[in-house]
Amino acid sequence: MTTTTSNRTKFWQSQDAEHHLHPFTNHGQLRKKGVRMITGAKGIYITDSEGKQMLDGMAGLWCAQLGYGNEELVEAAATAMRELSYYNLFFMTSTPYATELAAKIAEKTPGDISQVHFACSGSEAVDTAYKLVKYYWNMKGQPKRKHFVARVGAYHGSTTVAASLSGLSGMHPQFDLPLEGIHHVGPTPHWYANGQGLSEEEFTDVCVKAVEDKFLELGPENVAVFLGEPVMGAGGMMPPPKGYWAKIEALCRKYGILLWADEVICGWGRTGKWFGSEYYGFQPDIMTMAKGMSSGYQPISAVALGGDIADAIASNDEEMAHGFTYAGHPVAAAVALKNIEIMERDGLVGDAAQDRIDYFQSQIRTLEDHPLIGQVRGLGFLGGLQMVADKETRKAFDSEVDIGYRCRENCFNNGLVMRAVGDSMVLSPPLIITKEQIDELVTKARYALDLTAKEVGYM
Ligand code: PMP
Repeated sequence: MTTTTSNRTKFWQSQDAEHHLHPFTNHGQLRKKGVRMITGAKGIYITDSEGKQMLDGMAGLWCAQLGYGNEELVEAAATAMRELSYYNLFFMTSTPYATELAAKIAEKTPGDISQVHFACSGSEAVDTAYKLVKYYWNMKGQPKRKHFVARVGAYHGSTTVAASLSGLSGMHPQFDLPLEGIHHVGPTPHWYANGQGLSEEEFTDVCVKAVEDKFLELGPENVAVFLGEPVMGAGGMMPPPKGYWAKIEALCRKYGILLWADEVICGWGRTGKWFGSEYYGFQPDIMTMAKGMSSGYQPISAVALGGDIADAIASNDEEMAHGFTYAGHPVAAAVALKNIEIMERDGLVGDAAQDRIDYFQSQIRTLEDHPLIGQVRGLGFLGGLQMVADKETRKAFDSEVDIGYRCRENCFNNGLVMRAVGDSMVLSPPLIITKEQIDELVTKARYALDLTAKEVGYM
């Protein structure tokens, strides 16, 4: 490391400590430690200001499907910026990029999804969908349908509505949330953690019954929508138990309640299919999406609607009083279009990707023999490594051990980005990852787990 590199890092660390408040960060700790500066990225690797390279096992924040520094996406952005640096979609205008992207989303989404409204982030898409659900029921003359049913352990974003819909209790008290009319049903449909002693199917029934009980408690005629991530992501990478979504879908249809799939993580190839709802074979009325849609090169998100909510809003003869200045920004839409084109052309989703997905899933499962690992779970290019204090009883580590944080630091310090959610280590690598890179990822993960096990006396 050169002195110049180190000086530059220190300079940024001090500027950052003086002026910068970060998302989801303990600022007291950050100031003691000094921020890590990421200065470059190429392919599936990121580089910090000390020149250290790390394999990004998280694709940024679950978003860099094509990895970093893809020249075709750079070119698409530059071309669009030269041609049409900005225009909006308000008051009966559009741009070719936004219009073509809306059509592409309608083509790629399952079933009868037909209408697309753009926003700039996952949270904005979630806020928008929340408003559109209210708008729909008001329009249909059912204004009593005001209750939103979400799940304990869900993550839906950080704006006031999205944080309220999130079922992570740590997100609420600092901000006087959740908003009224938002409910969280437990248990979280995570069989390993919550279904001990039950078969997977029995556990599915427990989870679905809890949702039905909540509908009945509120009065089904007062429930607007049920929403969930096809695979719960930021709450800990928790795929649902077998048959869960088919039963939830049937329940929503039984009571005439809308079904909303929050596809912000699961959408755009993450599960190996284009969308998580396609993976699980259910038909949402509403889909929210962001992240992988542009591989994170530009901020763009969308709400996609099908069935009656799509028809009702699309044919309503009044102004829909909602929208964001930068929604469907031409540069972002151009990048998203190119991103989807590349995913199709290069076989990054569907059958063509299956061989690499199978390899990823089989290789991460080799970690199940590790003394810290109770369960490895995953599908598509999603993985979760559950650390436990006792593999037999599934007993969790004491919170003071901070096992997730320890392991995350050992990953970072040894060339791998793997995120810790509680006691689970989470993986969501770029969809372009090769088999050799999967080997590298798993070797590095094992090494970090070994270091962590030694620290806590398990090896
Ligand atoms: N919904 C889900 C399912 C998410 O995972 C996220 C982000 N991780 C969001 C919404 C919020 O997206 P954003 O951070 O872009 O606002």
